[in-house]
Amino acid sequence: MYAEGPTFKLFNVLKSPVQVYAEIGEHILHLNALIGRSISIEFRGLAICKSCKRDFASLFRMGCCKKCFFESPLAGDSILRPELSRAHLNIEDRDLDHEKSFQLQPHVVYLADAGQIKVGVTRLDQVHNRWMDQGAGRARIIAKTNNRYEAGLIEVELKSLYSDKTNWRQMLNNKSDGRDLGEEVINARESVSNNLREFFDLDGEQQEIHYDYTATPGNINSFSFKGSAKFKGDLCGLKGQYLIFSSGAVINLRSHEGLVLSWSY
Ligand SMILES: [Zn+2]
Repeated sequence: MYAEGPTFKLFNVLKSPVQVYAEIGEHILHLNALIGRSISIEFRGLAICKSCKRDFASLFRMGCCKKCFFESPLAGDSILRPELSRAHLNIEDRDLDHEKSFQLQPHVVYLADAGQIKVGVTRLDQVHNRWMDQGAGRARIIAKTNNRYEAGLIEVELKSLYSDKTNWRQMLNNKSDGRDLGEEVINARESVSNNLREFFDLDGEQQEIHYDYTATPGNINSFSFKGSAKFKGDLCGLKGQYLIFSSGAVINLRSHEGLVLSWSY
């Protein structure tokens, strides 16, 4: 079978184990069904910017060309740094209508364990997707806010206690942080400023997440498509945005957003 098209982030469905789908051109590949099979993926030097939709030989960051990365609301400051949100003050960063619809909706602050506990911010209706995208084995909401800015303030204050990044090697090695998330919510609440404590949710439930990934390859190597490149391997697992192969090679599909890839399977 053959499919070709620009790369989007993998679509994870919360089941046990998580079911993973890749949209490629007119095809939707159910990747769990390909575990145990040999697949090859080829990049021939064509990529499409997710903002301006124009063709490039490569993209700059976040699926955008260089111009759009610095100008498009799809890559605005508040995406990676929620505390820089300004839509609640009616202040435009790149496109106020876009920023209002994105920032002015319920957000959550969460703790997720993908090897070590990290703190993160996301929209309330995205929370399970976010946890699965990060390969978290367990996670829980710790605070609920009215907008992205308030959640960003809490996250910034918690960065002294927790990382805000996922360590992908620990995540793929199926490591787990020993700390109890219920106790951490209490610690976290006590460590933030008084005016932010009202947002905390001490009764949230912990979500356990299981992935279609049991074999841990000894020597993990991340493969990237740069220039033109072809990859071939036996798929043995799926976790977060990663395809994991029996050789120990792993591909972070999200980091290739926009690249036109050809899949044979
Ligand atoms: Zn562009």
